[in-house]
Amino acid sequence: MNLEQEIEKRKTFAIISHPDAGKTTLTEKFLLFGGAIKTAGAVKQNKIKKTATSDFMEIEKQRGISVATSVMGFEYKGKKVNILDTPGHKDFAEDTYRTLTAVDSVILVIDSVKGVEAQTERLMEVCRMRNTPVIIFVNKMDREGRNPFEILDELEEKLQIQVRPLTWPISQGQSFQGVYNLYQKQLNLFEPDQTKITEQQIEIQGIEDPELDRWISETFADKLREEVELIEGVYEPFSKGSYLDASLAPVFFGSAVNNFGIKEMLETFLDIAPSPEQRETDQRVVKASENKLTGFVFKIHANLDPNHRDRTAFFKICSGKFERNTFYYHTRLGKKMRFANPTQFMANEKNLIEDAWPGDVIGLYDNGNLKIGDTLTEGEELQFRGIPSFSPEIFKEVINRDPFKSKQLEKGLRQLTEEGVAQLFLQYGNRKILGTVGELQFDVIRFRLEHEYGAKCDFMPLRYFKAFWITPKDNNQYDEFLRRKSSVIAEDKEKHPVFFAESEWMLNVAKENYPGVMFHETSEFK
Ligand code: GDP
Repeated sequence: MNLEQEIEKRKTFAIISHPDAGKTTLTEKFLLFGGAIKTAGAVKQNKIKKTATSDFMEIEKQRGISVATSVMGFEYKGKKVNILDTPGHKDFAEDTYRTLTAVDSVILVIDSVKGVEAQTERLMEVCRMRNTPVIIFVNKMDREGRNPFEILDELEEKLQIQVRPLTWPISQGQSFQGVYNLYQKQLNLFEPDQTKITEQQIEIQGIEDPELDRWISETFADKLREEVELIEGVYEPFSKGSYLDASLAPVFFGSAVNNFGIKEMLETFLDIAPSPEQRETDQRVVKASENKLTGFVFKIHANLDPNHRDRTAFFKICSGKFERNTFYYHTRLGKKMRFANPTQFMANEKNLIEDAWPGDVIGLYDNGNLKIGDTLTEGEELQFRGIPSFSPEIFKEVINRDPFKSKQLEKGLRQLTEEGVAQLFLQYGNRKILGTVGELQFDVIRFRLEHEYGAKCDFMPLRYFKAFWITPKDNNQYDEFLRRKSSVIAEDKEKHPVFFAESEWMLNVAKENYPGVMFHETSEFK
């Protein structure tokens, strides 16, 4: 098979949701269809529970699960599907954001009872930043949920995207009958069953077909006709182009746990979802179909077993063909590296691979050379863009508890922040401020500093609400700002100045007083 065919085959995406909406269940059903697993229950919950905060080993056990399920690949109807898993826990949101930089599209799961939840909105913001095409699955239709029209309105309003239903539910909850496929004009009848993987599809000649009344009662049939008419009147016809440019999200209804409405979504997904196309770098746009290999690291997972202190870097291939034991150029370090044991994840198995193609994610064994955002090429000097740091929300100063172990502390903090566990900011050259999106990270850092680096520290909470990367619009004003606000300015790992705002109000005051300074919520700006 040639490069173009390999690219065309690949669909790399993530399933995202607010915790408990049904992401794990849906992932599992996809894997069942793909034959990657044989029984339900094989996909472990990649969930970090609240109670785990005080029990680090429990977190680690769960992190172990999360690496096993980090990438799940399977073949289905001639396509190679790569599902990148994202941690559901909100404290690991930063991890999720970075994973979203490595996908070509997403499926967003909504709970029909709860509608759009907090985490859904934030995840969608990240998708919008990168114009990632989105398919929406409204789950749990077997429960007494909200009115589907209301859900559509809420999706449009809160997620700022146009929606277009492709299936439509016939009643819901106790009396849920199934869905009508607006696209294929098929009826799909609901049978609660958590084990089967087939669905009863009934061909009818459109909504007016009297056959419809034979399958569902007249009351349901009439209501369906009315609603379909309304949908066709209100919503524009589905356009693949609008989906691909991320201005329109097709919506499916179903019940993941009952394996209902999944197959048609999967098949539509395979039909319309984008294969790898192109990606921006600091030099030029790289096309997936270029012959030379390029790719970048978006995640690093450290092995916490003290006897095996290795790390796995997750590498997304953007163009060309990756081959085992071949020298590639590490653009940040300016040196050549080769990989003897690249791995790929098929369901829960990790396999050694000889080659991989654009869209694939492979695990590279690393002993400290790779960090998030690093680019490999066949010699060209370029760096992939689009893997920004996002503003943290919890800030703490690091207090060294063992002055004889300062070196170990420095090294530990540097390596842990390279793995993306937290962001490190330096003030006045040596005051260390850590920023994260969740409290859990501080437990992880404290534990790992002690066990892996022999360093001890405390954290002193700081009352900042967000960090903003700043750039000059007017140099004089910018310099004055840096001077006057030095007590709330620090440098990030690239030595770029960051301003800590104590509140939204303080930020607005700063913006008003210093129009010559620009404030950015992520570390990447043009
Ligand atoms: P995640 O946190 O998004 O991964 O959610 P899970 O897949 O773990 O699902 C959360 C809970 O919702 C579990 O108890 C599932 O069994 C349940 N669930 C998933 N899909 C459905 C569904 O279609 N109907 C109902 N009633 N429950 C569901």
